[in-house]
This record gives sequence, structure tokens and C-alpha cells, in this order.
Amino acid sequence: MLHRSRKLFDNLYAYIWSGQGNNAHTYLFPNVLRGERPHIIVDPGLLVDEMYEGCFDSLTDAMANDGFKIEDIGLIINTHTHPDHCQATETIVERSTRTDGKGKINSAVVAITKEADDYYKVAGERMFNMFGMKVVKLDPLIYLTEGDLSLGKDDKQVNLTVINTPGHSPGSICLYWPDRKVLITGDLVFNGSVGRTDFPGGSITVLKESIERVSKLDVEYLLPGHSTEMGSIVEGKRRVEQNFRAIKFII
Ligand SMILES: [Zn+2]
Repeated sequence: MLHRSRKLFDNLYAYIWSGQGNNAHTYLFPNVLRGERPHIIVDPGLLVDEMYEGCFDSLTDAMANDGFKIEDIGLIINTHTHPDHCQATETIVERSTRTDGKGKINSAVVAITKEADDYYKVAGERMFNMFGMKVVKLDPLIYLTEGDLSLGKDDKQVNLTVINTPGHSPGSICLYWPDRKVLITGDLVFNGSVGRTDFPGGSITVLKESIERVSKLDVEYLLPGHSTEMGSIVEGKRRVEQNFRAIKFII
């Protein structure tokens, strides 16, 4: 397996990409939603990377090891619409499609910001072609907007906050979970580094503003979209603060 699984909480698992090629880390909130597809996935990543590693097969196996099935994903959230974060989205929608007792077909729902969708419509195909891949369908049913995003009900409820953090890619978001002091950063901030801004729609000025905003949050677990030579997850309030200080210094 090319993903390292880590249970952070009963309802949050990290799937840290550890292959040779480039792929995003995936985060899973299992057993949150009501109904037959209870899992929420953030950034499912690539199907296959440039080294021909089976990213999605690895993720499927890693999740299965923890007792979670791809077919039982009900919500797919993409922090932004770069291929290495969202390519597997269409496959998950297909794999989760079922017909209910009344003959109605339903499947996992995709959630991104409108800005990320607009960007995808204009630049998505070009981005995928740049990496030698065929563009995939995203078809979001939910447009995320900044503010509270409560998922699930009663004791299963997870109350997230969507934060608009453009700079790396138009319409990029971070997901903040105040109850657990978790921040999923996509490609805004990494361990000791920040997301690149040389892709279409990137801006270092805007990236800095976004970093400034999230650096004020109370965070114990900073969950980035990729690893660096410094590592992957930044853990502990003090280390997270140090990380923000260090990256503000280098950008
Ligand atoms: Zn990206």
C-alpha cells in the first residue's frame, strides 16, 4: 500500500500518500452522514500518478483495512480542483451509484466552491492535459461557501467551517474543525512550506493573505495536502504556530 493510514479520531482518518510520484493526502470523516453512504472524503487524489502507481487502488485498500468502503462515501469535498486532488472524484461517484427500492438512482455528492468550479470549467481540461491525463467530470451538487458546514446529526454531527483561501488555485478552501482544533489546508500550507502559485490563477499576494487568515486559528492538527522533506501532519499547537511563523518568514 502506498498510503499510510492514521486514525486521528474515531471520525477522522488521514491517508498519507507515501508513494514515489505526486498525489494528494486524503482525509476521511467516516460514519458521519445518515443513510447508506455515511462517509465524507476530502481530496480523494489521483487514480494513477506519473510513476504509474495505482493511487486510487492504494487508497481503496488502505480504507478497506480500516473497515471503510469507497462505495459507502456519500460526500466528496475537494479543497480545490487540481487533478492531484480531484481526479478520483468521478470514479467515486460511479462506484457509489446505487438504485434504491423505488428504482431511484443516487450516488455520492460532490462539493466545491463556485469559484473552483468556474475555474475548472475554464482551465480544468488544460490542467489535466498538462499532466498527460484526461479531464474528469466533477458535476458539483453543492457549492461550498465560507462559514459553517454542519454534517451528520446528533452524536455523529461534525461541525466544520469552510474558509476561503485562494492564492494557490482559484476557489481553494481550508476546512476547520474547531471542536477538535483540526485544519485541513489543501495546498495552502504544508509542513515547512506553502503551495506553489505558478499555475494559472495562482497569486503569491493572495496566498499570503489567506495564510495570514488561517494562522490566527486555534489549531492542534494541521493536515496538509502534501508532505515535504519536513514531514506531513504538523501536530501540537506550539509546532503549528512555529510552522506559520517559519513559512511567513520564507514567503
Ligand atoms: Zn494544487
